[in-house]
Amino acid sequence: MAPSGAKALTRKGNMARPHRRPGPESHAPGDLLPVLAPGGAGLSIVASADLHRPCLEYAVRCGADFVGIADLRPAHAHIRSQGGEAIAMFPRAVSLGVALRHELVDPLPGRADPAVAVAYRRDAYELVNVRLDRLSGVVAEWLAAQGHRAKAVPASQRTDGVRICGAFSHKLAARLAGLGWIGKSCLLVTPEAGPRVRWTTVLTDAPLAPAATTVLDRCGDCRACVDICPVRAFTGRAFRPDEPREARYDAGKCDRYFQWMRRRDPATAVCGLCLYVCPHGRDAGAAQTPRLPLSPPPSATA
Ligand code: SF4
Ligand code: SF4
Repeated sequence: MAPSGAKALTRKGNMARPHRRPGPESHAPGDLLPVLAPGGAGLSIVASADLHRPCLEYAVRCGADFVGIADLRPAHAHIRSQGGEAIAMFPRAVSLGVALRHELVDPLPGRADPAVAVAYRRDAYELVNVRLDRLSGVVAEWLAAQGHRAKAVPASQRTDGVRICGAFSHKLAARLAGLGWIGKSCLLVTPEAGPRVRWTTVLTDAPLAPAATTVLDRCGDCRACVDICPVRAFTGRAFRPDEPREARYDAGKCDRYFQWMRRRDPATAVCGLCLYVCPHGRDAGAAQTPRLPLSPPPSATA
């Protein structure tokens, strides 16, 4: 097993390609033996017990921009209360993220323009959901092929209409995997791309090495997401793992706003302003896309 606290990976940077094809008798620990190649990505059996890095690299090869391993045991009670024992029985999770393109997110203040709204809804939501579900499916298959239990959680599927949530929080797994912090927007904010990432999860009992630490909250005195929300869904309270989401976020307000927009025109029912405005994501996109005019958050002027 990889040492405790092994690092998560992002697509950027150190992605050596391990997908080599050794001779049948000559594989070294950690080598991959390609046995199937669905969609060109390859399903491989790892020749040693050390699954950690091969798993992360396989996920990146299959399209993950972010991947990390979470130890779910500290959050077991919360996970069980949300998804039941069928979800909470898994001790670990592979957290998988797909970055949203800045050219989709940056125009969101102009979402009254149907061209902006339709492009965001299709490319940043519907198509990314397909990509995430395919990604979690192939990673789960890969882990199952190594002889471990693995369950892919749908990327976006509400199972509780009262609490307005799914059976499992992908953001919880990403936080425990050391990929980012929960912002005042209740979004997972990565150091590399801010909240401009969508997430999915594979629950597993595979002996993967979870992150040893989480990323510290970097919201500081910023309130940009709180102030921009058209329905004032956020309280502005910083995340605390021992507090319920309701202390920070009224999901019902956001949900009713979307229902209202859908009644008006389903094709253009998008918001995402809390995701757009976060300075961590905007900074990441600044080099690629010209910024739209917007007042900087308080922390940027202090
Ligand atoms: S998506 Fe829009 S309405 Fe919903 S919480 Fe974010 S800013 Fe508010
Ligand atoms: S907009 Fe500001 S307060 Fe909101 S999540 Fe981003 S850094 Fe935190």
